[in-house]
Amino acid sequence: MTIRLRPHHLLCMLTYIGKGYSPGFVRNYDAIAARISAGEALDVVDGPDDICRPLLETPNPHCFNDSVVARDRQAAADVAALLGSGIHVGVRLVLNTAQIALLRTHFASGGIRAACGGCEWSTLCDGIAAGGFREVRVAPDDLQALGKPPTSL
Ligand code: SF4
Repeated sequence: MTIRLRPHHLLCMLTYIGKGYSPGFVRNYDAIAARISAGEALDVVDGPDDICRPLLETPNPHCFNDSVVARDRQAAADVAALLGSGIHVGVRLVLNTAQIALLRTHFASGGIRAACGGCEWSTLCDGIAAGGFREVRVAPDDLQALGKPPTSL
């Protein structure tokens, strides 16, 4: 199986610590985080993805908003430049420890944060990055591999 992921969620997944829009959203995200951590492939998609799914059952989900589509475009460009490979519909990614470490480093430095402009979660994500991504639920074992054990899960 693969996980359908829109480009800006390549950033959001780096700071996911079990907080989200609703208990159902978090339950779904937790399951996806575990699958990504287990090495499952990511299929880049346009528009709402597997993380968005619970929001699509609510009235007026923001997932289709122009601002969110623009966020995808910016994140795709920044992540593609960093990883040296295109991020667009049809691309399949299996992120390794080194790539996740690279994404975390450039997320923390702000190098790939242009897509985060105007996001309501920005302060939370800033703090998680500044704290060394300690409680993240996507690839927490990779922190251990890099000598930064997660505090809790
Ligand atoms: S600030 Fe918003 S867009 Fe950026 S990583 Fe956090 S949740 Fe995602």
